[in-house]
This record gives sequence, C-alpha cells and structure tokens, in this order.
Amino acid sequence: MLGWRLAGKSPIFSAAEDAEVHSLAVIRPPSFAYRRILSAATHYAEQQLFCDGVPLARLAEDYGTPLYVYSATAIRARLRAFDAAFRGIPHTLCYSVKANSSLAILRLVARAGHAFDIVSGGELERVLRAGPRSAGKIVFSGVGKTRDELSMAVRAGVLLFNVESASELRALAETAMRLGRRARIAIRVNPDLPAKTHPYISTGLRQHKFGVPIPDAERLYAEAARHPALRVAGVSVHIGSQIADVRSFRAALERVASLVSRLRRAKHPIRYVDAGGGLAIPYNGTRRDFRRQFAAYARAVSQPLRGLGVHLLLEPGRSMVGPAGVLLTRVLYRKTNGSTRFLIVDAAMNDLIRPALYGAQHEVVPVRLTSARTVRKEKTDVVGPICESGDFFAHGIHLPPVSEGALVAILDTGAYGASLGSNVNSRLKPAEVLVDRRTARRIRRRERPADLIRLESL
Ligand SMILES: *Cc1c(COP(=O)(O)O)cnc(C)c1O
Repeated sequence: MLGWRLAGKSPIFSAAEDAEVHSLAVIRPPSFAYRRILSAATHYAEQQLFCDGVPLARLAEDYGTPLYVYSATAIRARLRAFDAAFRGIPHTLCYSVKANSSLAILRLVARAGHAFDIVSGGELERVLRAGPRSAGKIVFSGVGKTRDELSMAVRAGVLLFNVESASELRALAETAMRLGRRARIAIRVNPDLPAKTHPYISTGLRQHKFGVPIPDAERLYAEAARHPALRVAGVSVHIGSQIADVRSFRAALERVASLVSRLRRAKHPIRYVDAGGGLAIPYNGTRRDFRRQFAAYARAVSQPLRGLGVHLLLEPGRSMVGPAGVLLTRVLYRKTNGSTRFLIVDAAMNDLIRPALYGAQHEVVPVRLTSARTVRKEKTDVVGPICESGDFFAHGIHLPPVSEGALVAILDTGAYGASLGSNVNSRLKPAEVLVDRRTARRIRRRERPADLIRLESL
C-alpha cells in the first residue's frame, strides 16, 4: 500500500519533507497536477496525479471506478476569468447547462452569481432545483421546444426565449397568451457562416437546422411585435461548438450588429444580444493561458457591438467546465492483437462518447508515474469493454507501461462527458465527485442494477 497522504497530514513525512511535496509537472492548471509522493513500501519517490491537493488514487479507492472528478476551484477560476474578460461591456454569463448539468455544478454556478442557458424542460427543472432564485436568469434555447416545455418556462418566468422558427414563435405566443403572461423573445438567427469545427457541432450554416436566416428574421420580428403576449427583446446567434478561431465569432457578431441597427430603425426595442457559446478548449494540453484566450474571444464578440449599447448574453459551456474534469478509470486487462497493444479499461463509451461521436482526442495519462526516468514508453490503444470498435478512448498513444489494476485519467472530460452518458450495454453510470478546497464530495452516486430497470415493467 502506498503511503500517499495530503501534505501536512502524512505520518511518513516530516514537516520539512512536506514542504517538498510540490507540483513537479502541472498538467491542467490550476487544478490537475502531478506531485511527488514517497512510497511507504519502497521509499522510492513517485509522482501521482492530484486534483487540488487530493490524490486521484484515493478518490478511486473511496468511490470506485470509473469516476468523474471535477475541480470546483478550476470551474470558479474559469467563470471568474470569463466574466472579467467582458468587464468593459454590460453582460451576463449564462452557463450552458448541457455541457455539464450536474446539480452540484449548477449550484456552484448559481452561487457565483451567474445565469443559465438551457435547451430542454429537463434542464429547466435542474436549474430551478439547483438555484431556486435563478428562474429569471434563464435563457431558453433549442430548435424543438415542445408546448409543455414552453409553458413550463413561461410559468417559471425565464429571462428570454431564443426562438428558432415562425411556428415556434406562434406556439410561444399562444402559450403565453393562454397563461396570461408576456414572453420576452430573441430570434436566433442563422448567419450563414462557416465555423471551423467538427460538422456535427457546426450550426451556423444555411443548411443547418438551427436559427432563422437573417432576411426571414426581420419579418418574424415584425410579427412578434404585433403580438400582445410577446415582447421583442433581443437577437441571438450560436454558430457551433469547439471553435478555436475567434474570427468566426467576430464575423457572426458583425452580421448581428447590422441586424440590430436595422431592427432598431424599425422601432424594435433590442436590448440583448445573445452571442451564444462555442469557444474551444485545447484538448492537447497546450499551455495557453485561458485568461488570454477569453480576452481575445471577448474582443472578437464585443468589438462589432461597440456603440450599440446592448446588454450581452454569453452562453459558454465547454470552456467553463471541460478542463475542470477528468474521467478516472482502471485498467482491467492488457492484451496484444498482432502488433496492436490494448489497455482495456473499466470506462466505456457510455461514460464518455466524445471519441466515438466526434473523433475527439482526449489525453490519457497514468495516475502514478514511477521515478525511473528510463522507462520506455509503449504505443497502445486505450479501449472500453463495449461490443463496438467505436468504444475507444485513444489510438496509438505513447504511455509509460501501465499494469493491470493501475489507474489512468482521461483529461478534459468535464464538458460533454457525464452529460452525454448513457446506459449502453446496460452499463451503470459512474459516480461523480466534486473536489472543493481539498475536500471531495460525491455529487452523484454510482448507479446500481436496480436503477437500470426501475422504470420497466414485465
Ligand atoms: C451548446 C450550446 C452552447 C454551449 O456551447 P459550448 O461549445 O459548450 O460553449 C451555448 N448556446 C447554445 C444555444 C448551445 O446550443
């Protein structure tokens, strides 16, 4: 058994040695880092991956694997930096719930004073549960809102509906009318601009299902203005996700800015511009300071709006939570087929579907690194147990030898990881843990077999 403990608490370190327990290699600042540990058994130093002072190996022992681990500190740092990047313009950060919709994370966002962007009635339910006073700080997006969802949201009194079609506008008007309420609307426009990203998460081209072409939007605003249960309040745009080149955002906002001017000339009281989300994170661990990236994004989004006096709504999802989470998994078996070496781990595509769905490449790293610097790395595939070749996490990566029973961490999985989880192959969804100031708290328990069949009848 290893003698790793938190600095300052370990019986095997003197105070002086404790001071030496320091970060040897920072891999995802500010929260995920290797630290040097003294193994009680061998007295050899090794490095172990920590989350904010808590060893991931201990979390795996306490909560089992596979396990999602999130850093509250990292999420708060990102929220704060993003918010600060826009300090020059009136704005509201509406965290995009679909990136990670765990109640504890929504509560953290609400307590930090931010608002929410939702895309379903289920997400509305979650936000109201996590932040009972957040109803008036919700933007409701989505191309296929049902009547039930519209009426839930009208009743809750959300801040803004981002409407995506003429038919939805009429459905919302009828719903609000029936409830004796007035709904604030923005039309989500489709700017017909390409954004360099995976085709499944690009949304701003004419042929995509999203939004309304700008010329049609102007007619819709006129229609909305005539309806007593609707109040025209903004323009919204969202061109896709994992967009690294901020010029795409600038181009979209330039089109939005000229639309805002035309709408105002037509006497529409446009107060809000909702710039959507979509800012990319580096999945290869590039050491670029996220504060600088947020600042560049803020310039691209806000410069085209200069002088319009609008209130910006921002809907970042991935960039707030992606790098703040890892998926911890244990190696079940090693095997070699022909010339391909495999690590078969206990996590699978039901836990993290991004590699299969988007060809996403997440870094996979061992939780323990021995001190020997001469270890030869092995070329290996990291795969899950599901009966599909699409069930993989990495192909042909180079890792130090990882033995059966050892832990690896799949990095940058705080966004679109657990929230895209499923029960494929009747697998149980993993537990999730939030580390906050050196204390780990389970925020979702591991599913049990009874959870799988709870809703079924014979
Ligand atoms: C998905 C989505 C977002 C969040 O996108 P990220 O890439 O996670 O920042 C924001 N707004 C809308 C309308 C979305 O559909």
